[in-house]
Amino acid sequence: MDHDDHEHGHDAPICAACGVTALPSENVPDAFVCENPDCDTEEM
Ligand SMILES: [Zn+2]
Repeated sequence: MDHDDHEHGHDAPICAACGVTALPSENVPDAFVCENPDCDTEEM
């Protein structure tokens, strides 16, 4: 059908600050952390 909007997987949130795919926080399962060490975005 038409499901090519997502790259086979879960909803990977993208950091609006740098555009890098954020990873799920190990501490908070409901939060995401940007894997970009150069990004200042810690938590939304
Ligand atoms: Zn970022």
